Amino acid sequence: MQYSDRLSKIPPYLFVEISKKIAAKKAAGEEVISFGIGDPDMPTPDFVIDALCQAARKPENHKYPETDGTKQSRQAIAGWYKKRFDVDLEEQSQVLPLIGSKEGIAHVALCFIDQGDIALVPDPGYPVYSMGTILAGGTPYYIPLKEENGFLPDLEAIPADIAKKAKVMWLNYPNNPTGAVADLKFFQKAVDFAKKYDVVLFNDAPYTEIAFDGYKPASLLQIDDAKDIAVEFHSVSKTYNMCGWRFGFAVGNTGIIKALGTIKSNMDSGVPGAIQEMAASALEGSQDYLEELRGLYQRRRDKMCRVLKDLGFKINEPKASLYIWAKVPDGYTSAEAAADILEQTGIVVTPGSGYGPSGEGYIRLSMTVPEEQLDKGLVKLAQWKKR
Ligand SMILES: *Cc1c(COP(=O)(O)O)cnc(C)c1O
Repeated sequence: MQYSDRLSKIPPYLFVEISKKIAAKKAAGEEVISFGIGDPDMPTPDFVIDALCQAARKPENHKYPETDGTKQSRQAIAGWYKKRFDVDLEEQSQVLPLIGSKEGIAHVALCFIDQGDIALVPDPGYPVYSMGTILAGGTPYYIPLKEENGFLPDLEAIPADIAKKAKVMWLNYPNNPTGAVADLKFFQKAVDFAKKYDVVLFNDAPYTEIAFDGYKPASLLQIDDAKDIAVEFHSVSKTYNMCGWRFGFAVGNTGIIKALGTIKSNMDSGVPGAIQEMAASALEGSQDYLEELRGLYQRRRDKMCRVLKDLGFKINEPKASLYIWAKVPDGYTSAEAAADILEQTGIVVTPGSGYGPSGEGYIRLSMTVPEEQLDKGLVKLAQWKKR
C-alpha cells in the first residue's frame, strides 16, 4: 500500500505525551481530572430533544436530505441572525447548514486552495483552519495573536507579498484558545484588509453566545460590506450543548455559500432532516436558558481564575468562550508546566504550544467540567508547587 503524501503531512497528535501520562496515572489507580477538552458537560435542553423525537417519526426525515438544507432550518438560521445581530440574510442563497461547523471549515478550503496556495491562519488557533488548508494542498501562514494586541492579529504586520498571495484569512472571535474577543472596529479593519488584498475572509464564531459580565460579542457580518467577501461559521454545539448532534452553519457571501454547497454535494448528503428540525427548534425557541448557562460558566470562570491567580499565573479573565488562557510561570515551557501539573496534582491542562508556535508559554483550561469535579479539581490544582 502506498498512502498519499497528503496523509503524511498531518502532524502527529499533539497531546501524545500528555495522553501517555494520563493513561499511566490512571493505570496506577490515581484520580485524573481533566480541564483539557472543550466539550460542554451539560445536556441538550429538553425542548430540543423533544423536537428531535417528533422529527424522528416523520417519514420524510428517513430519506436523503438535500445538501443545501431544509427551508425550515435555513429560515431558522436567518431568523436567528436577524434577531441576534440585526443582520439580514437571504435564506436561499446566503445560508448553508453543515454537519457541525468543523465539516464546513475543513471543506471550504477546497473552494479556494489549490496546490501551494496560502491561507492566513491565527496562531494559536483551532487546528482545522490549517489542516483543511494542508489537506487541500495549500500552506498555512501563521499570523501570531499576541497578548499585547489583545490576541488580535496585527494586520499591518502581515508582509504585503504574503497578503497579496494569500487566498483566504481565518479569524475566530470569540477566540479559542485565548478567550479574546473582537469588536466591530477590528472587524471593519479586517474587511478593509481582505478587500485591499482580495482575500476571502472567514470568521469562525461558535462562541458568540457564551459570554460573560453582560458582554455581547459581535458578528463579522454586522460590517456593512462584509458580505462582499466574507462568510461566518457558526454552530449550535456550544450554545445549546449539542456537540454530539452535529449541526453548524455557514452564512454570508452568496458565491462562497454556493461554492461550499457544490463541494459538499459531492462529498456528503447534508445534515439529517431530524437534526435540522432539532437545530431549528433550538434557534427559534426560548433563549432564556442561555442566561442560566452563561451564569454557570461565569461562576466557573471566576473560581478557576481565582485559583490560577493565587498560583501566580498571569491571566486575562475571558469575556467569552469556554477557555482560560494562562501564562505559565517563568522557567517553564507550556509542555513542562502541563506535565508537571499533571504529575503533581492529577489535573489535565493543555499546553498552549499544541495550538501553534505562538501558544508557547501558555496553558489552556476548559470550563466544561461539572461542578463537583471542578471544585475537587481546583483544590488539587491549588496544591501545585512550582519548582
Ligand atoms: C468547537 C469548535 C468548533 C466546532 O464546532 P462544531 O460545530 O461542533 O463542529 C469550531 N471552531 C472552534 C474554534 C471550536 O472551538
